[in-house]
Amino acid sequence: MMTIDNYKFAGKKAIVRVDFNVPLDENGNITDDTRIRGAVPTLKHILEEGGALIIMSHMGKPKGKVAAKYSLGQIKDAVAKALGVAEVKFAPDCAKAKEAADALKAGEVLLLENLRFYPEEEGKPVGIEKDDPAYEAAKKEMKARQKDFAKVLASYADCYVMDAFGTAHRKHASTAVIADYFDADNKMLGYLMEKEVKAVDNVLSDIKRPFIAIMGGSKVSSKIGIIENLLGKVDKLILCGGMTYTFAKAHGGEIGESIVEMDKLDVALGVEELAKKNGVELVMAPDAIIADNFANDANQKVAPSNAIPAGWQGLDAGPEAQKKFAEAIRGCKTILWNGPAGVFEFDNFCGGSRAIGEAIAEATANGAFSLIGGGDSVACVNKFGLADKVSYISTGGGALLEAIEGKVLPGVAAIKGE
Ligand code: AMP
Repeated sequence: MMTIDNYKFAGKKAIVRVDFNVPLDENGNITDDTRIRGAVPTLKHILEEGGALIIMSHMGKPKGKVAAKYSLGQIKDAVAKALGVAEVKFAPDCAKAKEAADALKAGEVLLLENLRFYPEEEGKPVGIEKDDPAYEAAKKEMKARQKDFAKVLASYADCYVMDAFGTAHRKHASTAVIADYFDADNKMLGYLMEKEVKAVDNVLSDIKRPFIAIMGGSKVSSKIGIIENLLGKVDKLILCGGMTYTFAKAHGGEIGESIVEMDKLDVALGVEELAKKNGVELVMAPDAIIADNFANDANQKVAPSNAIPAGWQGLDAGPEAQKKFAEAIRGCKTILWNGPAGVFEFDNFCGGSRAIGEAIAEATANGAFSLIGGGDSVACVNKFGLADKVSYISTGGGALLEAIEGKVLPGVAAIKGE
């Protein structure tokens, strides 16, 4: 497999898929540039080696239509600054950038407009539901259009570099299909991808025990696949955040107005059963910090997670829970964290997530390997000033979880030729 270190970029044009899906405020200012910084090593390397750069990315979910608020033109100057170049040229239509790409000289940078302004990028038919009899035909047609779109993108460059770990679990035109139009010697993973894949390998191939996973966030439904998979790997599993109340409800608890998935009560019970069968210690919050409103300044008090009065909702792990979580994490040698233990965006309800972050930092100082993934857990670690106290922060959420599940990511498979 070609690697970025072995490839000779001098005089070549490289098209690089990055993840510049950065959060913007209402004025179009970047509020967190972690993802841009993540791609810089790869981009700078290509420029320093004498290559020209064509950068492509998506931003947000414009669903195949042009939407000014998702224009990558807004971040052009920030990219120039991050790369230390005077100018980043901008192609306002990613599918009509051949001329601009052809004119590019060594050391120059061209940023393409948001790939997802074209439905071909994701390759999903638009305006037709899955149960429509014409859906299959529409899907087939869109897949053909996706190939054509990928071919156009590929025509801009001599080589392709995949460095968007955050979208590597998607088989999109720019993350996977495009690779078909380059031979094995002219496609490779970027540094960020290499690093992310290695971090996952580190966890999976050399698990030092005890191995604990901490899964939080709002819903059990979106994480059930990874939870079931982890139950075959970990020694302990903390389940926290909003999913706590689906478990409490499944046992007949009172959960007030807390977030709950009533159609997933049996799923929750199934998770508990599987944990028991596999000898995994399942750790859940015995108490909660409850609020009389979904707001930072709501009134709050502590209640058992299964005895929350009407009109109140659990927004964070309670003091007992925080102690229990920290104890479970202490002494572990491999730690995976995805998803907050409460509504951490509210300063008054971030204590549970903070307790987890601090316990992970302490365990890491004592020799554990800790891997943090998913936008919200990364935001937590940053919020609590713990970023340099954990072993590895992944830029991927879904991609990280799928990789941990043992799936080969389409973005990796496309380069490896699998
Ligand atoms: P997810 O996207 O499923 O990983 O969930 C992340 C979100 O879950 C964050 O925005 C949290 O605010 C939210 N969350 C965590 N705990 C709770 C809770 N107890 N009630 C409501 N939302 C929660």
